[in-house]
Amino acid sequence: MSHRFPLPPGSMIGVLGGGQLGRMLALAAARLGFDVTILEPEPDSPASRVAARTLEAPYDDREALKTLAATCDVVTFEFENVPAAVVEQLEMLGALAAPGKRALAVAQDRVDEKEFFRGLGIPTADFAAIAGPGDIRAVLARLGGRALLKTRREGYDGKGQTWVEGEADAVAAFARVGKKPAILEARVPFVRELSVIAARSRSGGIACYPVGENRHENGILRTTHAPARVSAATRAEAEAIARQTLEALDYVGVIGVELFELDGGALCVNEFAPRVHNSGHWTLDGCEVDQFEQHVRAVAGWPLGKTEALAEVTMTNLIGVEAKDWKTLAADPSARLWLYGKRTARDGRKMGHVNRLKSFDR
Ligand code: AMP
Repeated sequence: MSHRFPLPPGSMIGVLGGGQLGRMLALAAARLGFDVTILEPEPDSPASRVAARTLEAPYDDREALKTLAATCDVVTFEFENVPAAVVEQLEMLGALAAPGKRALAVAQDRVDEKEFFRGLGIPTADFAAIAGPGDIRAVLARLGGRALLKTRREGYDGKGQTWVEGEADAVAAFARVGKKPAILEARVPFVRELSVIAARSRSGGIACYPVGENRHENGILRTTHAPARVSAATRAEAEAIARQTLEALDYVGVIGVELFELDGGALCVNEFAPRVHNSGHWTLDGCEVDQFEQHVRAVAGWPLGKTEALAEVTMTNLIGVEAKDWKTLAADPSARLWLYGKRTARDGRKMGHVNRLKSFDR
């Protein structure tokens, strides 16, 4: 496909992944007159039911990738565990991928990701890579005996991670995660978890949404409150971190950067997601241009939209059976309800979210 920007309405945007983020991207794309093709291995996915077209195939299916490359003007992803090799293949087939394989590769490996931030002079938790049980003793001693063991790859929503205390505990935990390459991280004594959602356009312009304040339960995001009640200095630092990250990765699209706020307001990065992010769902009702439209604008070579908050928003995820309360939520005039159309409500599964707005003058 020829890649002439800005892409005109009617262009086709490919999305790897068919979950709720793909669904909300497809809805935003449709509003701007674009069509979306979803590539997703699971049948009946949330995104496929609102997209113009779905290729139901594994992410590395050669025929599906050829079709994407031949029919899409740009290809993006909603899920960071798409193999980086797939993005490489797409590019070899002539597709244009955004945010691109470097951002994806760095975000997929917790050690590479932390080294990337360190290289930029951005603080992270103290950490070390664990290749085998023999690495554990010395690292643990350096980190003070207690640390968080995470698999280097494919962890999300707290999966593949556990607190360990002492060598025996750490060795057992390493065995439980399947002896996969791991990382040990020192505990960050944070007072709050924050995130910054930001976007970079094809011409290099950057726009940051107000910082959000996140509360997790059992490793899963429960609520985001935005704008976070942080000092101007903390907000400026969060934005500077996002800006540096976007520029270093020559990034195009929306990124989510998760931060720990320390006592006194200094920040430390936890990780980044090379995609739209759950902690940015408040923008759907709290901003003129939400994160999904912003991502579509960026990858399509359109100018970025406004990112100011129009109101204070609390976003609450509906997890598992909580979405069964839809009748109550639908009858609540203060709740803006978003449901993802997932057919079954498994424990810990994100089924939807609710945004509650409070105007700034109240
Ligand atoms: P992650 O999968 O890295 O996003 O971690 C999930 C959650 O675990 C984070 O949102 C924090 O609440 C907590 N966490 C992760 N890393 C650390 C750390 N180094 N110190 C303290 N808490 C952490």
